[in-house]
Amino acid sequence: MQQLLAGCPKSDCCRGIGFSFCGIVDSKHCQILSSNDKYSDSAGFDLAGWAQSEFNLPLRLENDARTALLGEWYAGAGRGSNDIVMLTLGTGVGGAAMIDGKLLRGKHFQAGCLGGHLGVNHKGRICACGNIGCVEAEASSWSLPAICSAHPLFEESLLAALPCISFERLFQIAANGDACGLAVRDACIEVWAAGAVSMVHAYDPEVLILGGGVMNSAQEILPAMSEYIHRHAWTPWGKVMVRAATLMDRASLIGAVPLFETESQ
Ligand SMILES: [Zn+2]
Repeated sequence: MQQLLAGCPKSDCCRGIGFSFCGIVDSKHCQILSSNDKYSDSAGFDLAGWAQSEFNLPLRLENDARTALLGEWYAGAGRGSNDIVMLTLGTGVGGAAMIDGKLLRGKHFQAGCLGGHLGVNHKGRICACGNIGCVEAEASSWSLPAICSAHPLFEESLLAALPCISFERLFQIAANGDACGLAVRDACIEVWAAGAVSMVHAYDPEVLILGGGVMNSAQEILPAMSEYIHRHAWTPWGKVMVRAATLMDRASLIGAVPLFETESQ
C-alpha cells in the first residue's frame, strides 16, 4: 500500500481505502459486526483509525457481495439498471440488493446480504449461521464434499476418487455422464435458482447478476437457472434479466469507486 501511494503522481490522487469484507459490517461506522467464524478476531477492530494513522486516508468498509454488486452496477453486467440483486456463488453464497440506485443495508446492515442464508429446505442441512437448509448449506463449495458423500451413488462415482471436490471438477464429471455428479450438479443449480427466486420476490429487481468463482462454469449454470427463475418467479410485469457477472474477481475492487464517488452509497 505504501508503495502504491509512493507511486501516485500527485499527493491527492488517492481518495481513500475501500475495504470489502466477507461478513456483516456497519458501513456507517466502519466496523465489522459478525464474520461467521471466519476472521473471528476482526469484529470491533478500528479499521478507519488504522487507515487514518497508517496512510492518512479515509476508509469505506462494505460487505463483499455489496461491493461486487456496486462494481457490476458501475462498470459491469448491471450497467444501465438501478434495480439489481446479486448472488455470489463460491466458498459461501453472498447476496446483495440495490433498489432505485441505492444499496440496501437495513437497520442492522443485514438487508440483502444474507441471500446465501435464505432457507430453501427447512428439513435440510445445518448451516454455519445456525439456520437449517440455507442456500449455502445446500449448495456451496464448503458444503459440497458432504453433499456428494451423502449421495447414495457416491461410492460408485468418480467423485469418490477425488482428494478434494470442487464445483469445477463436479461439472466436468457430470458432463461425462456420472450419475452422482449429474444429480448433485442439478440439485445445486436448483438450490441456487430457488434462492434467486426468493431474492426476486423480496427485492423486485429488473436484473439478477450471478457472480463468484463458481460462475467460471457459467455455461453450465446460467441457462438452467434462468429457465427455473423464469418459470417460478412471480413477476407479472415481465422477466427478470438473469446475467453472469462480467467483472468477476475485479467486481469488488471496482465497487470501491462508487463507494467514494456517490455520497448516497
Ligand atoms: Zn445459513
